Amino acid sequence: NKSASSNFIRNIVIEDLQAGRVKEVVTRFPPEPNGYLHIGHAKSICLNFELADEFKGRTNLRFDDTNPLKEDTEYVEAIKEDVKWLGFEWDGLYFASDYFEEMYNRAVLLIKKGKAYVDDLSAEEIRKTRGTLTEPGTESPYRHRSVEENLDLFQRMRNGEFKDGEKVLRAKIDMSSPNINLRDPVLYRIAHATHHNTGDKWCIYPMYDFAHPLEDAIEGVTHSLCSLEFEDHRPLYDWVIRECEMEHVPRQYEFARLNMTNTVMSKRKLKMLVDEKVVDGWDDPRMPTIAGLRRRGYTPEAIRAFAREIGVSRSNSVVDAKMLEHFIREDLKLKAPRTMAVLRPLKVVITNYPEGQVEMLDAENNPENPAMGIRQIPFSREIYIEQDDFMENPPSKYFRLFPGNEVRLKHAYFIKCHDVIKDEQGNVVELHCTYDPETKSGTGFTGRKVKGTIHWVDAKHAVPAEFRLYEPLILDGQEDGDSFLENINPNSLETLHGFVEPNLKDSKPHDKFQFFRHGYFNVDPKYTTPDKLVFNRIVSLKSSFEL
Ligand code: ATP
Ligand code: MG
Ligand code: MG
Repeated sequence: NKSASSNFIRNIVIEDLQAGRVKEVVTRFPPEPNGYLHIGHAKSICLNFELADEFKGRTNLRFDDTNPLKEDTEYVEAIKEDVKWLGFEWDGLYFASDYFEEMYNRAVLLIKKGKAYVDDLSAEEIRKTRGTLTEPGTESPYRHRSVEENLDLFQRMRNGEFKDGEKVLRAKIDMSSPNINLRDPVLYRIAHATHHNTGDKWCIYPMYDFAHPLEDAIEGVTHSLCSLEFEDHRPLYDWVIRECEMEHVPRQYEFARLNMTNTVMSKRKLKMLVDEKVVDGWDDPRMPTIAGLRRRGYTPEAIRAFAREIGVSRSNSVVDAKMLEHFIREDLKLKAPRTMAVLRPLKVVITNYPEGQVEMLDAENNPENPAMGIRQIPFSREIYIEQDDFMENPPSKYFRLFPGNEVRLKHAYFIKCHDVIKDEQGNVVELHCTYDPETKSGTGFTGRKVKGTIHWVDAKHAVPAEFRLYEPLILDGQEDGDSFLENINPNSLETLHGFVEPNLKDSKPHDKFQFFRHGYFNVDPKYTTPDKLVFNRIVSLKSSFEL
């Protein structure tokens, strides 16, 4: 179990338990419901849940819903589904918005202690007077309002007497602190907006840096894990807990976010792809969202194994997207039946095979997992092969079909190509071949050898299917910055129409197969209908068969 391998946060937990600082490990996964979860969130989910599981603690799912303008119930539901699908069960399901009253009361406490004040400066003025790394900030002219005046103004902010942006509540800490986060950060802002959970009850909303530590403290979270950008916010986190006199003291620990090649990893950017209709929704199989990966055909097991492998550290790095592919191949290797599909069909007539005759051939379902048994596939006079398994004028070292050459049909016979039929434009539309009955697969024929084995499906019995092949949506080196929308890979989706073996006729959404030589495929849950099978290629086989 790789989760038991060392990561620095796990070591902290072990020390805390051993020293008796913590009785029970409590973690939380705190998404903002402003989009669908992505593979980066999966890293955080696995870390939080697996850490608590290992030490018999618990993990809450908490929606960090303090910004009514961007949040939506659709996202709440999608996030719940994704966490469950990954295989985790939360202990409590909470909404930060359920704590608004308590947060308000804690803010009032800060005001009473002289630790917070209502400021009339605009957001722009506050930014300008915050100073820089080398220059201290300057105090707001409203910083020395009396406690009474602040209490009155804050109450009136809550009552809706002011417009958005007219006033904020700020912590009174230190305008010359070397840590800019401590230069009187904003705690509350006014937003006259309907909230997905609290409706119109509130028109002031707490800022992340104020809300998050309180949420953790209220829930008894012991280890609050967040990404490295929040390292400089930790002193503020601790300040809020202390000055708000929270009984329970949670601790924040930071770890490196997951970044991946060819992948934009931010809900905001992923939403742009959805809104601009670059993709077909949040669950487009090219998206790095959990929903997209699921529709593509990824399994929870593969994603969890990936998360364990990348581990948890404090240094930012970029993980090669191929690593994720490795784990789905590993997971499906023994699970997925292997079968044949022809993606770009070329008809072959076997001229010496009796007309009207059909025979059933035995085919192993997974040579690496014999327990998966064998199936029977029909073979007759007309079959389809892959267009690029034939070349009229092949280069040397081409061992597949060409005029005069003999190849093995997987699970069937040797065939030899005699005639090439073309249409008026000169395109190859059909091949005439002969087969040798002596060479039947499984009979131990050793008379002669062929160098190529190709796949096929029987023309009369094959089931038509659509295949969707994917390339990365984001071109190399375009993962960062905001210009990614102009650098979308134009070839990220290729749709083909071909055939699968007849046994696949009744396949259900999310059934997974390895198509011989083509890779792993998933039955698409969105576009598959009782009359039409649509397959998403999850990943190709490692050894490509391209020339
Ligand atoms: P995004 O910018 O994609 O919206 P976020 O951090 O704002 O990311 P949240 O919904 O606030 O998204 O995140 C919930 C949790 O997931 C946080 O604890 C956050 O640290 C973690 N998380 C988000 N993205 C990543 C990532 N790429 N790698 C690891 N953890 C992540
Ligand atoms: Mg966030
Ligand atoms: Mg965000």
